[in-house]
Amino acid sequence: MKAVELLKEKLKTVYCLRETVELLNWDQETMMPPAASSARADQVGAVAELAHQLFTAKEIGEYLQQAQDAGVEPNSADGRLLRKVRREYERETLVPQKLAADLAAASAASRDAWMKARQANDYEIFRPWLEKVVELTRQIAKCYCPAGNLYDALLDGYEPGLKTAEVARVFAGLREGLVDLVKRIAKAKQVDDSVVLLPYSVDKQEQFVRSVITDMGYDWQRGRLDEVVHPFCCSFSTRDVRITTAYREQELAKAVFGAIHETGHALYEQGSPAEWVHTPLEGGASMGMHESQSRMWENIIGRSLPFWHYYFPKLQSVFPEQLAKCQLSEFYRAINKVQPTLIRTEADEVTYNLHIMLRFELEQALIEGSLDTRQLPEVWNKAMEEYLGIRPSDDLTGCLQDVHWSLGLIGYFPTYALGNLISAQVWQSLCQQVGNVEDKLQKGDLASIRNWLQEHIYVHGSSLLPEELIQQATRRSLEAQPFLDYLNAKYGAIYHL
Ligand code: ZN
Repeated sequence: MKAVELLKEKLKTVYCLRETVELLNWDQETMMPPAASSARADQVGAVAELAHQLFTAKEIGEYLQQAQDAGVEPNSADGRLLRKVRREYERETLVPQKLAADLAAASAASRDAWMKARQANDYEIFRPWLEKVVELTRQIAKCYCPAGNLYDALLDGYEPGLKTAEVARVFAGLREGLVDLVKRIAKAKQVDDSVVLLPYSVDKQEQFVRSVITDMGYDWQRGRLDEVVHPFCCSFSTRDVRITTAYREQELAKAVFGAIHETGHALYEQGSPAEWVHTPLEGGASMGMHESQSRMWENIIGRSLPFWHYYFPKLQSVFPEQLAKCQLSEFYRAINKVQPTLIRTEADEVTYNLHIMLRFELEQALIEGSLDTRQLPEVWNKAMEEYLGIRPSDDLTGCLQDVHWSLGLIGYFPTYALGNLISAQVWQSLCQQVGNVEDKLQKGDLASIRNWLQEHIYVHGSSLLPEELIQQATRRSLEAQPFLDYLNAKYGAIYHL
């Protein structure tokens, strides 16, 4: 058997084990009885450790070398598989096991401290742990890249190939335009969103959500929808991609757009070529690329006027009591209300990226050592004031709001904003190539959009680097301008700017 085939055989076991970890996690969030949590931690730990051992085994390195020596065509599926596995193998084997275990232990303790700090609304309880996690993360980054930029090394784990300087360049082009748009909106006549805050029966919300997801092309034969506290999408191979959502009576928009968002992720996962099942080529190109697909469906399509031109009468017939007298234009404005908020997860699509830029700048400074953890709350609050014109009055609504840093997820935040930028750039190309997209949306034709995405994005799974995929799908590198153009056109009309 050829080395590449032997490698694939070994990797199949690794991927089946990783998918099993995902399945155990899904079960924990949706079905598992509460008393099982410590037993589940043991089970997840055991399977994940086994997957790690098999993946970092010496023979994987040997097969990789032999396969490369045999001269595989770099642009073939095998060539791309080798490139991806080589990158990941190097990352996983460069970090000493002791250091990885120290970070895992510190993250668990740090997350507990973060929760306690939130309960007490006191950053000082969390601060020593943050300091420890940052220090360990810095040491890990040094293993990846002893002489280079440490933040680059961390970013590469989420956005393969992307450099900090490139993110900074793209964000710089975005910042001014966003701050300016937020200011202009603040001066305009504000939107009344009371209609979406009325009580809506949860059962009927679910009925509506399921019909939209079905129209989007979600394959129920290879998926299911369940209820959780914090919604997510997870995939155990392209044959089984599950989504979750949360319903609350007075939060219709959260359920609808949350479900559309997760379905955007799911379509990407279900769209991977079937022959790549249990291989490293399944899934998406990067976190940012994945987020571009969910945000495109959620915001660019799901919060657009033509989309609701088709779906609003349907929603009205499900909820006649609340919506019979509401005009489409009123509903459209209500679901696109812009209002600076202290909490990132509650932010609208105009202000959201400013929350991310703030985190990107601060976590870079933490890793470089130019920001002391003692200064974090003050620096955070000052930046919020500068970007969004509002200042947190406590740590809970300031630097204690996100779980990421407590877990050592540093370098992850930029992917959220990159997702928004990529979504607008890909959308521009899609509109040019598909043609009459507004008309199609008005008629409820989501298939033309999904088919284009299948052909230009989903079909590549994770075989390309994000930069290659963006270049191939849009014929240019990532830019902030398409996103700014999209926001200015949409919100210029909504707020009469
Ligand atoms: Zn997402």
